[in-house]
Amino acid sequence: MKIQLKDGSIREYDGPKSVIEIAADISEGLARAAAAGEVDGKVVDLRTVLDHDCALNILTAEDPGGLAVLRHTTSHVMAEAVLNLFPETKVAIGPSIDTGFYYDFEHAPFSREDLDNIEAEMKTIIKKGASLEKYTLPREEAIAKMKAEEQPYKVELIQDLPKDAVISFYSQGGFTDLCAGPHLMTTKPIRAFKLLSSSGAYWRGDEHRQMLSRIYGTAFATKDELKDYLHQLEEAKKRDHNKIGREMGIFTTVDVIGQGLPLLMPKGAWIVQTLQRWIEDEEERRGYMRTKTPLMAKKDLYIISDHWNHYKEGMFVLGDENKPGEEVMALRPMTCPFQYYVYKQSQKSYRDLPCRYGETSTLFRNEDSGEMHGLTRVRQFTISEGHLICMPEQIEEEFRGCVDLAKYCLTTLGLEEDVTYRLSLWDPNDRSKYIGDEESWNRVENMMRAILNHIGIKYTEQAGEAAFYGPKLDIQAKNVYGKEDTMITIQLDMFLAERFDMTYIDKNGDKKRPYIIHRTSIGCYERTLAWMIEKYAGKFPTWLCPEQVRILPISDRFEEYSRKVLDKLKASGIRAEIDARSEKIGYKIREARVDKLPYMLIIGAKEEEAGVVSVRSRFLGDEGQRQLDDFIHDVQEEISSKTIRKEMPDEE
Ligand SMILES: [Zn+2]
Ligand SMILES: [Zn+2]
Repeated sequence: MKIQLKDGSIREYDGPKSVIEIAADISEGLARAAAAGEVDGKVVDLRTVLDHDCALNILTAEDPGGLAVLRHTTSHVMAEAVLNLFPETKVAIGPSIDTGFYYDFEHAPFSREDLDNIEAEMKTIIKKGASLEKYTLPREEAIAKMKAEEQPYKVELIQDLPKDAVISFYSQGGFTDLCAGPHLMTTKPIRAFKLLSSSGAYWRGDEHRQMLSRIYGTAFATKDELKDYLHQLEEAKKRDHNKIGREMGIFTTVDVIGQGLPLLMPKGAWIVQTLQRWIEDEEERRGYMRTKTPLMAKKDLYIISDHWNHYKEGMFVLGDENKPGEEVMALRPMTCPFQYYVYKQSQKSYRDLPCRYGETSTLFRNEDSGEMHGLTRVRQFTISEGHLICMPEQIEEEFRGCVDLAKYCLTTLGLEEDVTYRLSLWDPNDRSKYIGDEESWNRVENMMRAILNHIGIKYTEQAGEAAFYGPKLDIQAKNVYGKEDTMITIQLDMFLAERFDMTYIDKNGDKKRPYIIHRTSIGCYERTLAWMIEKYAGKFPTWLCPEQVRILPISDRFEEYSRKVLDKLKASGIRAEIDARSEKIGYKIREARVDKLPYMLIIGAKEEEAGVVSVRSRFLGDEGQRQLDDFIHDVQEEISSKTIRKEMPDEE
């Protein structure tokens, strides 16, 4: 048997050899560091016996594939520790993930103290350095074993495996887990790990099933890497919108209202409203007509649009479909069909096109409750939605206009450096997800590529991410934890015009099908707000600050003059407040800084006598004394031009 190694060299063996034996044959050091093998591109167990010619790459925990194996093995050790400490616990599943690993347990929520105890127990287990043994069992024996151990989740997992599946177990020390692997040879290489948090998670992500307790942890090849990661995580937490957005009083959630249904508090509502006014005015300047259409419709509408076939599980359906005579409605997951009926109210001609419709639309999507996160994964949200209905020869120019609008929004918000562009294509191997035939998909996808290349946008391609009616240009951004989301999308659609029988009369008097561009300009307001919170760590550009200026009188004696200043600021359209409490001025300044305000005006005897204000800002610190009118003029200018002033480093 010939084994080709990563460096191109070939090793020959007379008989079958396991991956770990070959690693040891290369060097003892490699065998010690090995976490897994990669055989012809597939990550396998070190125990895997090779008996035919192949390409082999030995993976260590420094390789992503090897690190995943290290982390998965750490999750097994965690499960062993949990069972040692809490023997009644039922174990569910425990995979590795991008940032580490988790394991789900049927157990009351774990406290931080529990996590610390589990961590200590894991260290004891790892010290013993037990080796992991793999074995397989026939289906019935596997089920009987898990029943005997009173592990119902494992029984269910086995029962759901295909009839011909090989059912494998890994055991280490006193713990055995149903698992497909791969795994380390022993627990010894687990040197750098940390349990991070615990939260509820439904069994199999299904809210009708048991609520389990999930423990998240992470592991790295070395202690230094772990330390770096934990530091990064601390930094990210300081920006996490789900944390500071709540602390700043921007939004909240309430159990009895529901998951994924955040409440925007007055500050958050004001920011969103400010964004919305800006976008609506900008769209009007760019030739959009505004519509306002219903939040729900009869199911008949969604049957025509094919949402009923392709998107029903993502919708909130009102009424019982199985009850005869019942009127079944659904909350809208998108606005497209509503705007098509606006278009269809009269016969359009080539002179009417392009028709650019915009709507600030609230949408509803029934996402898994396990997926909910702050303002980014929600069940109700509001987007700047638009549909451009145009003739084939207008597509490129209209598409270009949509990209230009998206870029204008990103640039104004200071986000343009943070995005990547992704061309989301259909998946020809999973046609049930899409409408239309292969030829049409190829044609539209190629048209989209040509436009993007023409515009000169750098993009990646991703199959399987298209909408069911057409390919999309998705503008992607990452949150503080590195998770990517779509912020803005521009989509090309050649199918829905036919489904809704939309037409226009061309120059020759013939009826033709228009094309439709679906697009957002700023995207979803909730998600954009979350993005802005994380980008600026809550220090928004002045025009988006709910409180732009705070007036701080040094003592009660200056309150009267301070109130005059306040009135003047307010009359000039500047959002200002006064802190007239009889606290020390240093205390008031510190608090205003914690509140991330752009400007403070400090007012004492000198200021009152000279009719000036002393300015402190987030941008320059002490900006000195200024004439009030000059200060007002500059702030007004900063707000109206949406300037993003450069922040001073934190003064702590
Ligand atoms: Zn496992
Ligand atoms: Zn649409």
